[in-house]
Amino acid sequence: MPCFDDTSKAGGPSATSGRASELILVVEDDVALQKLIDKCLAKIGHRTVGAVDGASALECLERCVPRLMLLDYSLPDMRGEQLLELIESRGGHVPFVVATGHGSESVAVEMMKRGAYDYLIKGPAFIQMLPTVVDRALERVRQAERLAQAEEQLHRAHDELEHRVRQRTAELAEANQRLRVEMEERRRAEDQLHQHQAELAHVARLSTMGEMVAELAHELNQPLSAICSYAQACKRLLESDGEDRFDELPASLNQVSEQANRAAGIIRRLRRFVAKAKPMQTSVDVNAMIREVAELTSIDARQAKAEVAFHLTEPLPPIVGDRIQLEQVLVNLMRNAFEALRECERDSPRVVIHTETVGRGQIVVGVEDNGAGIPAEIVEHVFDRFFTTKPDGMGMGLPISQSIIENHSGRLWVSQDPGRGTTFHFTLPIDTGDHSRAE
Ligand code: ADP
Repeated sequence: MPCFDDTSKAGGPSATSGRASELILVVEDDVALQKLIDKCLAKIGHRTVGAVDGASALECLERCVPRLMLLDYSLPDMRGEQLLELIESRGGHVPFVVATGHGSESVAVEMMKRGAYDYLIKGPAFIQMLPTVVDRALERVRQAERLAQAEEQLHRAHDELEHRVRQRTAELAEANQRLRVEMEERRRAEDQLHQHQAELAHVARLSTMGEMVAELAHELNQPLSAICSYAQACKRLLESDGEDRFDELPASLNQVSEQANRAAGIIRRLRRFVAKAKPMQTSVDVNAMIREVAELTSIDARQAKAEVAFHLTEPLPPIVGDRIQLEQVLVNLMRNAFEALRECERDSPRVVIHTETVGRGQIVVGVEDNGAGIPAEIVEHVFDRFFTTKPDGMGMGLPISQSIIENHSGRLWVSQDPGRGTTFHFTLPIDTGDHSRAE
């Protein structure tokens, strides 16, 4: 009878209320003691399966899974620790309580180190102690199992979390990559747009010059005629034999040189205005720029018989921007103002140019005329491309000006008083010394 099952005696629910019935493998070569143990454990509601030596214990473990093993340390065929090693080598594991003979406490200690849940000394109190020790060991087994389960769940949760983190990181990396590509594409598109805007602005400048060419010819004609007259006067003086002929000569020659400088100035301004330069961010003195543009458009002012007044804040902090493009904005706004004045034939036509600083780090420029104003029904269209009310207008001046100002991080808008005039305003950022936007 190497291995015997005693489950029939105490199967099913616990005989003792509140206790779970567990299957216990009793490895004990003393058959009489074995029976006593069975009885004792049955009393507290447990089932037993018995083995009289190590070999039969191993056989039992192939057929059933006991919750606990009560292991007699000294078996006929092996010692308790050898049996444990054999169980382990077969991939098994049974929680155990070790029973040792009287005087073998050191063995019990050794077995506790090897993982025993408790120990019992085979002595007079053995059977008496058995229920307490077995139940305590079973409780510890359950606790250990609960702990193992909790650890397992924790591991699974950790693995799951790690998996999710990896997944999310991969998603984020992908999104980042997409964003990088999109940003690169957007930057390229913006570069292209800037390039096109610069080209468009250049074409518009050439076209403005085309429109102004007759007036410019007239403008140039003045100093050239003056030069001719002064040169003739010099010649006459040289040909005359008057005593004081050399006295007047320097003054006339000075006039020749002054008028030549004036003509050269006109040509210089024109060349700069139509230059196809790359957009360049520099520090710009807006008041000086306004005066220069007023010179450039002085013929339009004369034709409109308009007085040009400057209400400029002095000193005005420099702004950062592309001077040629900003001049173009001013030329567009001022020529529109003069054209509006020509059309309405006011008594005292007037264009006033204002500058002031506003808010945080900005200046605002205003170009104000006292023309007829913009009718309410068209004012919201004046910045549309190709919108014009002029027979030979292109409708590009204001949209180009708007995109130039927006490229300078500013804003262009119109305020007006129908019948009394129009003011175009634009803002520009004050130069902080950082020209990193320069292209
Ligand atoms: P264009 O001058 O070729 O018509 P713009 O884009 O410069 O193109 O102007 C669009 C329209 O806005 C003009 O045709 C005109 O009707 C209106 N406008 C612009 N400036 C003024 C102004 N100062 N007074 C009245 N109307 C104006």
